[in-house]
Amino acid sequence: MAQTAKFSVPLKPPHITIVGAGLGGLCLAQGLRQQGIAFDVYERDAALASRTQGYRIRIDHAGQQALKACLPAALFSVFQATGAMPVAGVNLVDTRLEAVSGKWVESWRRARGDQPADTGHGESADAQDLSANRQTLREVLMHGIEDRVHFGKAFVRYREDEDARVKTAFSDGSCAISDVLVAADGINSLVRRRRLPGAVPADTGFACLYGKTYATPATLARLSGLLPARTSIVFGDGLAVIVDPMRFRPPPAGYRLDMPDDYLYWAIIGAREALGIGWEAGDALQQDALAARLERITTGWHAGLRALFQQGDRASLAMMPIRTADVPAAWPSSAVTVLGDAIHAMSPAGGLGANTALHDAFLLSRQLGEAAAGRRSLRAAIGGYEAAMREHSARAILASLRGTEVLLGASGRHPERILAG
Ligand SMILES: Cc1cc2nc3c(=O)[nH]c(=O)nc-3n(C[C@H](O)[C@H](O)[C@H](O)COP(=O)(O)OP(=O)(O)OC[C@H]3O[C@@H](n4cnc5c(N)ncnc54)[C@H](O)[C@@H]3O)c2cc1C
Repeated sequence: MAQTAKFSVPLKPPHITIVGAGLGGLCLAQGLRQQGIAFDVYERDAALASRTQGYRIRIDHAGQQALKACLPAALFSVFQATGAMPVAGVNLVDTRLEAVSGKWVESWRRARGDQPADTGHGESADAQDLSANRQTLREVLMHGIEDRVHFGKAFVRYREDEDARVKTAFSDGSCAISDVLVAADGINSLVRRRRLPGAVPADTGFACLYGKTYATPATLARLSGLLPARTSIVFGDGLAVIVDPMRFRPPPAGYRLDMPDDYLYWAIIGAREALGIGWEAGDALQQDALAARLERITTGWHAGLRALFQQGDRASLAMMPIRTADVPAAWPSSAVTVLGDAIHAMSPAGGLGANTALHDAFLLSRQLGEAAAGRRSLRAAIGGYEAAMREHSARAILASLRGTEVLLGASGRHPERILAG
């Protein structure tokens, strides 16, 4: 495919096809661009903003370091500048907003001054997590690679040819030929379904109901003062709520970013029964039905907490079943590999899914850089990435299950195999 004027130097082989312009796929694309490696990203959605990307995403030390390694320095600064302003700690409370103690999961948030875990990036940094507005983060990740991200291209199938090239076909009848195909197409990945058919994430029996509430003066007046000041984790009967205040600075000049107004992000995690969501209907509930569920779930809660949901932005309401992967034992590498939720979906209770996807992107871009420089074969590079990815994602899945356990007192129907491992 033709190079575009966006890139000051021509991009070199191998050519990488990335399916999915989510956080992992776009971060990989940026990491490849940094190294001058040719790539194209194919996304099913018609545009970056064609679906509500309603929630905030907490980027931990490993995620930040992956972004730092993959993005040009100026763009990494934009990522930092567009994150929510830090808050002063965490409230651990019950639904009456009384303090509770003894419940904590290491991956939830590192306090300033904590020693960061060794993430393999080889440098120390401020270990403070950064809360990003998800859509803004995707806009940052798109910057400078717009010409290489192709929308309205739903993956349909691929074929590995004998000459070690991969032919990828899309729903509009077009196809791409490349040296490597990367599945970054999320939890329902069609690429994974073909590449690793046994690696299907299992339903935990839990679900997550999430949305946001704009921080207008009228709304803030109705909320308990506890909520806008700090992150809150609310422990209820068979469920838990995470509330995060998202206050933004003006966006940096020179970047076209659609910054949101300040809001409070919240997510309720619980057993489907506790959330009143049936097994069959859960995925398809509409906003009005979800709002009615919220009203029922929060009956009897502190009025200053209830107001958070009553004042919520109805359009942002969403529900999703929580599924978790069991990363399969090593598989023989080929020119088709997997990244992010496509291979290691995990409970959002650990706040690690996106961070793990970003770390994958960092690892894979570095390995492909080694191959591009002729220091490794392409197959060895992909195998090296997959081995490292399996190891770190298994740890993240485990931490996420532990997070679910602390929040809910149980980790779900599936995870015995992982916990035993
Ligand atoms: C409520 C909630 C809160 C969360 N909070 C956090 C958090 O704070 N921190 C954290 O680390 N993680 C968090 N997560 C998890 C995180 O959102 C995911 O792990 C992360 O988005 C995975 O990134 P990804 O790039 O692998 O997949 P995705 O972000 O899902 O991107 C996949 C992309 O592929 C596209 N696609 C799908 N099928 C096709 C196809 N056939 N052809 C072409 N394109 C396709 C999709 O449209 C999408 O753009 C949270 C999840 C939820 C639900």
